[in-house]
Amino acid sequence: FASSAQGYDFFYFVQQWPGSYCNTNNQRCCYPIYGKPPSGFGIHGLWPNYNRPPYGAYPQNCYSNSIPIMSNRQVSGLVPNLQTNWPSWTCPRSDSSNFWQHEWTKHGTCSEAVLSQYDYFRVSLQFKQSTNILQCLITAGILPNGRYYTLASVTAAIEKCIRHTIYVKCNIDKWGHDQLYEVYTCINKSGTMLIDCPVLPTPTCLSFWIRFPSF
Ligand code: 5GP
Ligand code: 5GP
Repeated sequence: FASSAQGYDFFYFVQQWPGSYCNTNNQRCCYPIYGKPPSGFGIHGLWPNYNRPPYGAYPQNCYSNSIPIMSNRQVSGLVPNLQTNWPSWTCPRSDSSNFWQHEWTKHGTCSEAVLSQYDYFRVSLQFKQSTNILQCLITAGILPNGRYYTLASVTAAIEKCIRHTIYVKCNIDKWGHDQLYEVYTCINKSGTMLIDCPVLPTPTCLSFWIRFPSF
């Protein structure tokens, strides 16, 4: 559940594996209109969170009088970078800006006292660049080849590489198998550095082996 109370304690910075967003039973995917983004994890969002009970609650859709993101000249300057690193995979194919606007409205507005609309996107792109999750996995021999890996080995590979604790979220593929869907890293309240995650979401990778689908 969620609440619209103000304040937050830290951020989840969430990256998604498009191969797993696109191969579930209820999800069709389309490339953005500007073409196929480079293979790799993409940003899902930067989400303000509480580190206090009730766990699982988070602020969302906070009051804001900010302008639409695409009317913000500073944000426009980030568009090529956003297109590459924060693509939307929903159909019909789009320029992805609806996804960015949704993330700003739902999550970004709740940290606006700390990160302006421009900073919200700029900081997200910076952390995407400084945490190359796919490279961390490849270095550990964990490849997006449709094979199965243990959750422990996936988690350890990323944690060793970025030197902080993380959370792996699974979803379920068309054949009912758990697969690597998202990686949550944690960022301090001011949006300046990675931290160990103060609290983790409920486990979602319930089987011992999880699949890393190709894309
Ligand atoms: P799902 O249930 O698909 O994981 O999440 C649906 C949406 O709820 C996410 O895209 C995100 O907007 C929000 N959400 C899920 N878990 C969290 C969380 O732990 N913290 C925050 N701030 N938002 C979350
Ligand atoms: P959440 O509230 O779950 O953060 O936001 C997900 C919303 O963004 C959903 O309404 C979803 O349809 C939309 N969306 C658009 N493109 C994408 C994408 O590439 N990945 C995900 N997870 N959601 C997307």
